[in-house]
Amino acid sequence: MRLTVLGSGTIVPSLSRQPSAYLLEAGGLKILFDCGSGSLRRLLEAGAHPDDIDLMLFSHTHIDHTSELPLFLFSARYAPQARRRALRIAGSAGFVEFFAALERLYGDGISAPSYQRQVDALADGGEMRAGGVRIRAAAARHIPSSLALRIEAEGASLVYTGDTEYCESVVDLARDCDLLLCECSFPDGTSCPGHLTPSQAGRIAAEAGARRLLLTHFYPACEEVDRAAQARRTYSGELLLAEDLLQVSVEKVG
Ligand SMILES: [Zn+2]
Ligand SMILES: [Zn+2]
Repeated sequence: MRLTVLGSGTIVPSLSRQPSAYLLEAGGLKILFDCGSGSLRRLLEAGAHPDDIDLMLFSHTHIDHTSELPLFLFSARYAPQARRRALRIAGSAGFVEFFAALERLYGDGISAPSYQRQVDALADGGEMRAGGVRIRAAAARHIPSSLALRIEAEGASLVYTGDTEYCESVVDLARDCDLLLCECSFPDGTSCPGHLTPSQAGRIAAEAGARRLLLTHFYPACEEVDRAAQARRTYSGELLLAEDLLQVSVEKVG
């Protein structure tokens, strides 16, 4: 599997970090985790194209994770030729309601007359398969119906936390994963309900036995501190810090 960070940022405007989006090439599929603003441009910069995406998985409906979804679908509908490739989209039940609201709002602008589209609900503890990929979901602690997502393909595993604070369901989902892509919003010592600090992210990785930890979703205050040193307080495995367009190969470790 190969992961490309498309957006390692948040709601805070940044010239270097766009809001959340990640491209995962796994099991013959191109998977997009979340679709924050700038996703289309970043896909092109990563050498991919929005019309190549087979599966979109959403952690939750916050705007920094979903804002470019309507544009993605509008582009698939009209520009320059209509999309042909089938597209699956999945998220929590709350996400499916959100998607239905988008369809009411944008109508034909985001309809899919030229390609097959399927929108699936993933529950806490739920599982789905697509191509050679197994996807499992678990509740994250952020807003109602937030999910963390685990992908298993090619003998390796990756877990994306989405936005969350510390919770055991995310630890369980991340058990022995080869790469934990973990949000890390604010520095240690700050109060950040619904989010993680570096040492809290490290705690999840350590308790789960994650082989590698990739921290992402940095608010500016988190960039002003030594995030790696703070994560090292709790996690001793291989540690990476996300940048937009960083590529990481995800292989079975150990
Ligand atoms: Zn967020
Ligand atoms: Zn959020």
